Amino acid sequence: MNKARSILWFRNDLRLEDNPAMHAALATGDEVLPVFIIDPYQLTPGVHGIPRMGPFRAQFMRECVSQLDQRLRAIGSALQVHVGHPASVLHRIAAEHQASSVHAQAQLAWEEKRQEQAVSADLPLHLAAPATLVHPDDLPFGLEKLPKVFTAFRHKVEARWTVRPALPVPAALPTPAAWQEPRLPPLFSDLALPEKDARVVMSMTGGSEAAHERLAHFTGASRALGHYKETRNGMLSADESSKLSPWLAAGALSPRTVYEAVRKYEAQHGANESTYWLIFELLWRDFFHFTSARHGADLFRRGGIARAEARGVYDRRRFESWCEGRTGQSFIDANMRELAATGWMSNRGRQNVASYLVHDLGLDWRLGAAWFEHLLVDYDPCSNWGNWQYLAGVGNDPREGRRFNPDLQAERYDPEGRFVRRWIVDGSH
Ligand SMILES: Cc1cc2nc3c(=O)[nH]c(=O)nc-3n(C[C@H](O)[C@H](O)[C@H](O)COP(=O)(O)OP(=O)(O)OC[C@H]3O[C@@H](n4cnc5c(N)ncnc54)[C@H](O)[C@@H]3O)c2cc1C
Repeated sequence: MNKARSILWFRNDLRLEDNPAMHAALATGDEVLPVFIIDPYQLTPGVHGIPRMGPFRAQFMRECVSQLDQRLRAIGSALQVHVGHPASVLHRIAAEHQASSVHAQAQLAWEEKRQEQAVSADLPLHLAAPATLVHPDDLPFGLEKLPKVFTAFRHKVEARWTVRPALPVPAALPTPAAWQEPRLPPLFSDLALPEKDARVVMSMTGGSEAAHERLAHFTGASRALGHYKETRNGMLSADESSKLSPWLAAGALSPRTVYEAVRKYEAQHGANESTYWLIFELLWRDFFHFTSARHGADLFRRGGIARAEARGVYDRRRFESWCEGRTGQSFIDANMRELAATGWMSNRGRQNVASYLVHDLGLDWRLGAAWFEHLLVDYDPCSNWGNWQYLAGVGNDPREGRRFNPDLQAERYDPEGRFVRRWIVDGSH
């Protein structure tokens, strides 16, 4: 008699380390069919025709997916990649391969939640906990009582601090031989490879191996973690901040693994404000993820989760000047050119260009969020749209009108003008 089979649907958990969905599939004792699905929706235009997935993220995802396949093959399994709407693809695979259920990591953004609803209408879908640092069941409040403001969220979570241990990599994943035959097709082949720009702050290669190398560097030999709080606003070099966001967004790295690396560093070198601050930032990430779960589609609506009256307009000329880094404000332009050339921008840069789009150019904040979605290598729906709402004053910022003055910001964070010079070559501005 054939063994029972389960599909393991990889989403933004492209790793073997600390993968609860994979452990849940293994625990069934079934044969496991790992699959990654490219939803054509990702490649369609979003707000004002801006394409969702751009070249930097596509390239990073290609690398993550291909390395995941290699690593699965090393434990007796393999990844198949399919293109289509997840519910129809999974339904077809289940029928063709006699699989009776699907295991996947839960995601907390609205469209991803809708995918889950569509899948579960047809097949038993077992959702493992989402990729947050704090497990949703360990929150000291129900989602309906999620604090509106980050500080209240953090105080409550820290008062009952629990982070579950990261799960080990399984020694083997039982997968039928026939499932392992097809080799990975070229991924996102319609999207051109991004050109390499030598000015990039750090080269970022997709996949969990590069993620662990980066984590080991930042929390190990370099001791960069030890002075992160003082350097994190920098814009010029790799070790000023962790640069872990692309791997966290794709799930090539889990926040619990980062947490454990920070605790290990603290045990060896001592805890300080900087080691705490990295965990504090991971709590911001959790906050935006849970906010997204709580507010659903409002995260993407003009009035935001505050259901406020948003004032911004669509003015094509002004928007294009912002996208192209030609507003005439050199600090803003330098950041926007870095984004367009590399898919990366520092947190300081992101806050400034978002404030500029909303408060100085008077544009609809969703245009900026969509442009970031297209270009950022670390795009994550909850963090991106949540941060944009926050800066646009329609999210969970308790302060009204958070406007940054780019001249003062440049004086403070780029006092010698090195960042601006890197991105704005004399004469091109
Ligand atoms: C307008 C705007 C849009 C943004 N869009 C994204 C996005 O699409 N994806 C994304 O991962 N981050 C986003 N951020 C948050 C933040 O800018 C990046 O996470 C950070 O710059 C990544 O660099 P790092 O890994 O070196 O961060 P570090 O400073 O080293 O922080 C460690 C980790 O904490 C998390 N984190 C840090 N700051 C934030 C924050 N404000 N919100 C949520 N998580 C945070 C990230 O996972 C980050 O990797 C956005 C911020 C703004 C202001």
